[in-house]
Amino acid sequence: MKVAFLASEVNPYAKTGGLADVAGSLPKFLVRQGAEVRTFMPLYREVRKKSLPLEPVLDKAKLTMGGRSIPYAVFAHRAEGVTTFFVDHPGYFDRDALYGTPAGDYPDNAERFGFFSRAALETMRAVGFRPAIVHAHDWQAAAAVAYLRFVHAGDPFFSGARSVFTIHNLAYQGLFGKEVLPAIGLPESLFNMNDLEFFGQVNTLKAGILYSTAVTTVSPRYSREIQTPEFGCGLDGLLRSRAGVLHGILNGVDYQDWDPATDPLIPRNYAPGDLAGKKACREELARLFGLALQPGRPLAGMVTRLAGQKGLDIVCEALEALLGQGLSLVILGTGDRKIQDFLAAAQKKHAAQFGLKIAFDEKIARTIYAGSDIFLIPSRYEPCGLTQMYAMRYGTVPVVRATGGLDDSVEEFDAAAAAGNGFKFAEAAPGPLLEASARAVAAFGRPADWSALVRNAMSADFSWGRSAETYLGLYEMIAAS
Ligand code: ADP
Repeated sequence: MKVAFLASEVNPYAKTGGLADVAGSLPKFLVRQGAEVRTFMPLYREVRKKSLPLEPVLDKAKLTMGGRSIPYAVFAHRAEGVTTFFVDHPGYFDRDALYGTPAGDYPDNAERFGFFSRAALETMRAVGFRPAIVHAHDWQAAAAVAYLRFVHAGDPFFSGARSVFTIHNLAYQGLFGKEVLPAIGLPESLFNMNDLEFFGQVNTLKAGILYSTAVTTVSPRYSREIQTPEFGCGLDGLLRSRAGVLHGILNGVDYQDWDPATDPLIPRNYAPGDLAGKKACREELARLFGLALQPGRPLAGMVTRLAGQKGLDIVCEALEALLGQGLSLVILGTGDRKIQDFLAAAQKKHAAQFGLKIAFDEKIARTIYAGSDIFLIPSRYEPCGLTQMYAMRYGTVPVVRATGGLDDSVEEFDAAAAAGNGFKFAEAAPGPLLEASARAVAAFGRPADWSALVRNAMSADFSWGRSAETYLGLYEMIAAS
């Protein structure tokens, strides 16, 4: 089974969120189950700076897109059985950031990622990797699916190739003016409601949903939610019409990478049987954020984009009351300016109890997963969510809103049965969040209950094995269709 993975970010090369984690880890597990996978991503400045031993694959290649001949090169890097190909066109990708600056998205994103998708398909041909499945992720790679349909329709190299399109977050749709269609080499006739038009703009994500053989999203519950007006971001009707080929497959965790017993980035290692190291991580976390912990009171953590989706407005509203419950809180995140300003002011006021770092920092993130008692995720919606899974692996008990993958992966604690791995609330509002956090704070005060919670969280199994098998089953089914 030959599978070509196309993603705009892949861990450990470049990452802004969960997509990179999935695109970096799922291929390894597919390979372990016998698939042959090649991953394709752009050669960003961030990748260049890592000074990896990149192997030149194509030099002075060219493709024509929108009437322009665009030169590019391709490099490769091999790790854990997966070869990643990097598409190099400095004009598009040698920039400070992946998608844009704080002032906004790069204005040529449609062209940048259209080009990336075209070049990835051409690279498969150049290296003789004839895929059974082209698996494209999010709007940045969605054009690949449209190219297969409209540019490579009679192309013998791709004859028989099927496509899978995965939606990691329906809210990011890649909306552009209609002039991008000719600019990225797609027929202008696709600018109609039944194809790519969406309220007067071109919707790139629609290409992935409409033209792929199968569509997947990253949890079973989110696959149902996105078919409703509340979560459908204007595409629920289209998704309902594709319900027959839409699959919800829960993301997994690479437990080799996310293991408190071996993680080199946390202050001290530990394992379920001996949590002394976790205590040391907690102390180091408090020191790092300048907190004075109160005996018997829990330390809660968040690692998150500072965005409305993640329920940060709810946290801001509930902050005084949360701290009033006696817990300490640390937040690591980047994003919305207004949220940053609000949190920074609150941090000044409650410096001993509330710590804040505005940064994207893997080491601090992992120190929070390891050193916290409670992990807070009050998302308004959450396609899958990986941070609750990482937190659980590190013995940190999640308090989450019951939505999307959070609902699929967290089970409310039942003290009588010593069952469950966290706490959930239904409505996205300060009151219900505070009720759930109060239950967590109370359980923290009952050592036997807390031990059961930590044990259950650490033994929850979100390894990729089963999900990778489900993806393979889907590939095999559509390849045979
Ligand atoms: P999303 O992709 O919607 O942001 P996920 O839960 O799927 O949310 O994945 C988030 C990923 O990004 C996790 O690996 C998390 O640890 C990481 N992350 C988010 N914010 C930061 C940050 N400020 N610093 C380091 N890692 C972060």
